[in-house]
Amino acid sequence: MFSRRALQALRQQSRCFSSTPHQNADFTHAVIGAGAVGLAIARRLQQVGGAQVVLIEKHDMIGSETSSRNSEVIHAGIYYGPDSLKTKLCIQGKKMIYDYCQKNDVPHMNCGKWIVAQDDVQMQECHKVHEFAKSIDVPIRYVSKEEAQRREPDVRAEAGVLESSSTGIVDSHAFMQTLLGDFENEGGTLALVSPVTRIQPPSNGDFDWKIWTGADTSEPIPASPTPQAPEQSPASDEDTFITAETVINSAGLYACTINNVILPPERHRTQFYAKGSYFTYSKSHPKPSTLIYPAPVPGHGGLGTHLTLDMGGQVRFGPDVEWVDSPNDLAPNADSDRFQAALADIKSYLPGIDTASVSLGYAGIRPKLGKTSATAGGKTFQDFYIAKEEGFEGFVNLLGIESPGLTSSLAIGEEVYRLLYK
Ligand SMILES: Cc1cc2nc3c(=O)[nH]c(=O)nc-3n(C[C@H](O)[C@H](O)[C@H](O)COP(=O)(O)OP(=O)(O)OC[C@H]3O[C@@H](n4cnc5c(N)ncnc54)[C@H](O)[C@@H]3O)c2cc1C
Repeated sequence: MFSRRALQALRQQSRCFSSTPHQNADFTHAVIGAGAVGLAIARRLQQVGGAQVVLIEKHDMIGSETSSRNSEVIHAGIYYGPDSLKTKLCIQGKKMIYDYCQKNDVPHMNCGKWIVAQDDVQMQECHKVHEFAKSIDVPIRYVSKEEAQRREPDVRAEAGVLESSSTGIVDSHAFMQTLLGDFENEGGTLALVSPVTRIQPPSNGDFDWKIWTGADTSEPIPASPTPQAPEQSPASDEDTFITAETVINSAGLYACTINNVILPPERHRTQFYAKGSYFTYSKSHPKPSTLIYPAPVPGHGGLGTHLTLDMGGQVRFGPDVEWVDSPNDLAPNADSDRFQAALADIKSYLPGIDTASVSLGYAGIRPKLGKTSATAGGKTFQDFYIAKEEGFEGFVNLLGIESPGLTSSLAIGEEVYRLLYK
């Protein structure tokens, strides 16, 4: 939380935002949530002349929620349909993250990915992906049986293989640390252990937002859908607030809660949680040199139990999809039916796997805005929601930032900048 002493120090650091008519706020921008996306936004906004950004995080470290519980894949942008923000920001973000990682020595690898089909129905889905990728100019090609056998003899693909050569992997932790370094070097302020407990929009001729933080990091504000209206939660004596000209909601799994604290009841949103458990593999064989994904299943909440590699060369499988009720339900699911189902999925494309060497790993939770599909093939596809909120000047709201949020993070930073300044 912002103790009075810390707040005083922060205020001394902060400077006025010369291009705006009101110059009394402690900060020009307050970004709530220091995951990959919040970090990328804060870094981008801090680059604006005269800006003084505070990045507010409830935990005692950055990126400890969804941003460190994912597949670390740099996605190509081939699943999310025409005209979606996900497609636009994923493609733009992919280019930006490769450039950024290269320039800043962030470990990453453009290892490519295969989408494998075992029958005609799955191949139809590959054809759709192929057609769409072609239409948006993202590199995609079919791999012949002979080439597939030569390059990845352990991989089974009865009906065909589609290769996405621009897919890759990144060390998400190193990426976030580098973003933080940039942000702080530019003069940005990181406030850790500062769960936002209350937010008051500008009112009665006051131009600035007031943001309170509390000391209890275990439950910052009630999880959605039970919002906490500002007037129902008087700040305790211990609580202190800061003021900012703009507020950016990048709170990940708690973004709907922040939304519901600020906006009136008719604009409240409900957060859904799609947990994905991962499985580790302790043997060094079989180990393909590219990522292996099953053909997408329309309507599925994820991309199937795929094989990814991390920057240490370790194979992992997952994530599956399990709808849970709480953002804290982070224990990977040990249910044996689920485990057997995942093994069956894996064996379909990697028959030589030693199933005894597959064990439960970690889990992450996708912040969903409905029980929706991960790809545009399903009827219920939900795009990222990134918008300035009408009637709430200076509020940029980011909801449902699930995959490909890591890939898109730098482009999302640009998008927020564009919304505020262009
Ligand atoms: C299983 C899984 C696999 C994925 N795989 C990929 C992938 O391979 N490639 C890809 O591009 N994307 C992937 N994603 C998506 C990607 O991980 C997310 O889109 C991205 O990490 C979201 O970042 P974020 O900063 O929005 O959220 P988060 O990382 O969740 O950060 C939000 C932050 O807000 C903080 N916060 C919340 N409430 C408050 C409050 N009241 N006060 C202060 N701080 C608060 C939290 O503590 C947290 O640190 C995957 C996601 C999951 C779950």
